[in-house]
Amino acid sequence: MDGFAYLPGDEPENPGPLARYLPLTADGTATGFLALHSRPGDWVLDPFGASPRTCLEMARLGFRVLVAVNNPVTRFLLETIANPSSQAELRAALADLAAVRKGEERLETHLQSLYLTECTKCHRQVPAEAFVWERESGELTSRIIRCSCGDNGEYPATAADRALAAGFAATDGLHRARALERVATANDPDRIHVKEALECYLPRSVYALITIINKMESMTLPPERRRCLLALVLTACDETSALWPYPAERPRPKQLTIPPRFLEKNVWLALERGLETWAGAGQGIEVVNWPSFPAEGGGLCLFDGPMRDLSPQLKEFTPSAVVTVLPRPNQAFWTLSALWAGWLWGREAATPFKSVLHRQRYDWNWHAVAIHSALKNMADHLPLNTPFFAIVPEPESAFLSAAMLAVAGSGFELAGMALRTRHDPVQILWQKRAFSHADKESSPIDAEEVSQAMISFLQERGEPVHFLHLQAAGLAAMVENQNLHWQDDRLAKVNTVILNALGGPQFVHHSESKNPETGLWGLSEWNAERESLPDRVEIFIVRYLQKNPAAQLRDLETDLNVELTGLLTPSLGLMRAVLTSYALETEGSWSLRPEDQASSRRADLEEAATALTALAARLGFSLERNESPQRLILWHDSGKAVYAFYLLASAMAGRILRQNPNPAELSLLVLPGGRSGLLAYKLNRDPGLRSLAERWRILKFRNLRRLAGITALSRVRFEEELSGDPIEPPEQMKLF
Ligand SMILES: [Zn+2]
Repeated sequence: MDGFAYLPGDEPENPGPLARYLPLTADGTATGFLALHSRPGDWVLDPFGASPRTCLEMARLGFRVLVAVNNPVTRFLLETIANPSSQAELRAALADLAAVRKGEERLETHLQSLYLTECTKCHRQVPAEAFVWERESGELTSRIIRCSCGDNGEYPATAADRALAAGFAATDGLHRARALERVATANDPDRIHVKEALECYLPRSVYALITIINKMESMTLPPERRRCLLALVLTACDETSALWPYPAERPRPKQLTIPPRFLEKNVWLALERGLETWAGAGQGIEVVNWPSFPAEGGGLCLFDGPMRDLSPQLKEFTPSAVVTVLPRPNQAFWTLSALWAGWLWGREAATPFKSVLHRQRYDWNWHAVAIHSALKNMADHLPLNTPFFAIVPEPESAFLSAAMLAVAGSGFELAGMALRTRHDPVQILWQKRAFSHADKESSPIDAEEVSQAMISFLQERGEPVHFLHLQAAGLAAMVENQNLHWQDDRLAKVNTVILNALGGPQFVHHSESKNPETGLWGLSEWNAERESLPDRVEIFIVRYLQKNPAAQLRDLETDLNVELTGLLTPSLGLMRAVLTSYALETEGSWSLRPEDQASSRRADLEEAATALTALAARLGFSLERNESPQRLILWHDSGKAVYAFYLLASAMAGRILRQNPNPAELSLLVLPGGRSGLLAYKLNRDPGLRSLAERWRILKFRNLRRLAGITALSRVRFEEELSGDPIEPPEQMKLF
């Protein structure tokens, strides 16, 4: 299972509507997987439909994608983005809404008037972009304006601003009751939960949204135009909740918790912003409802309900693969989806999804049960060995355990798991196994085997790692040992075994906190003969560039991931650090620097050795030269070593630092100037190596050349010159 190569992807440029609630995934990952396992026209099954982007990516490639989608809002996203409207169509829909009468006014004028405030410069009344509130005091503290006179910025709220807001609070009951009624009737036991969810809307927002929704119902519109309007109103419903911390760049709410300072955004401007969010172009994708099939050229087939209801209907259906983004628990999105579905499509639409309202907190055990119950009947309806590719976004240890346990317990065996950094989605490949989980007894977890697996993973990696990596290694061992059979309370046991293993004397926790999930985990004893992952990456990239002048980044990344698979997948940061050290970029292609060609570096090393030999003679030191295991030149004085110069053309100093028998104070790394940033980057990754290197000095080739040219060089001057060249922080660190 180690041979699974992490599939590269791209961060989406325009993440699309409601992206802050949707899984953070990379575009192109599913494409990469399907290229290896399926052919266009094949069926692909997505049991969760949590990531509309991923479903659409597969459909666009020509696959027929069957998606179980239980959330009416996600369903709307899928349908709408599959056949996007142009900005002109969206604009026309918004113009229709703007022109509706509200009393004597146009609706647009009326909605804008809800936010009027006085411009500090020209003193005209202008609609604020947003107001800023404090949760604790319930105070409106400031307003954000952008006036046509040129004035814009944040200013303290005025008495008039507060009076205007208070007016909405006074009549809030009536509008809130209407907003409530659209989701749950008076005798609905869920009404209390809907009421709680509504608390994340301020009175003015409730009034504005309910006014819009009521007006929209009375409009007669062609279906396409209505869909445009629904889309704009949906994103406005999100924009005008109080779940927008201020100041903050990219909030990703998972709980319905109002931030300490938050924005109350102007609803009309939110509708206008939707024009850009929703606008799309290009060929649409066919969308049909199960059990209709899309044409062979690919499309989406939506099943309106949870996977557990779809599984029994899969008798005649043979997908070539199951591909999904595993959902994370998201109380905020799920609750708001029930609310918005009621507002936009009425109570009926909200009903099937309303069960999410009962639950305020989701723990990981609950989540494991939810994933398991969605999948447990699915395997029975799939052909043997059907691949199941799962993307685990925003991974954290408990999520990973829950996912592994739930899928392993649903009749799938692990075929590979690739983990890059804890900030990237984990990629897991499963296969439908021959016997269902019920056929075999679960064997008790062997803690010793789990611990051994974690140790051998660290030895192989050759550097400390975050907890998530060790946990993944431990989980993989449990799957291999048939330990992850489904039991409702298994999750806690699984996590305990991993945590207990880390208490062993072989593990070292580099962290100021006792929390195992902070800092890095290493070994008390490393296998000194093994190259560390960063060193292996450096070797690979240099050889790759020697063979492939003008290399493309994506090709390099793909080949690097094939070389270093699974839990060894190198980070993009490490790849970039090596590239920056050795190569130059021209219009997207990377080539070795001329001075880093193998022949130049051999000449440099020889020149450095010659210079050190000559300098030793001039300064009156005797010389000892070793070529292996390291290129080492020792200067002796009265039979005692006074300088130990290690010559290297790379930044692979780990073995030298660990095996150096000389005191660190008199030890030096002699290397090309371009390597010192990479060396610093590596030391920064590895606290053990960093402390070994603390009193070492470095001597760059060009500095040695300069010293060799000084005719009146004394021992004192030489020592001074050496001390003026510390290990430089890497380029990356200078940037931030
Ligand atoms: Zn003004």
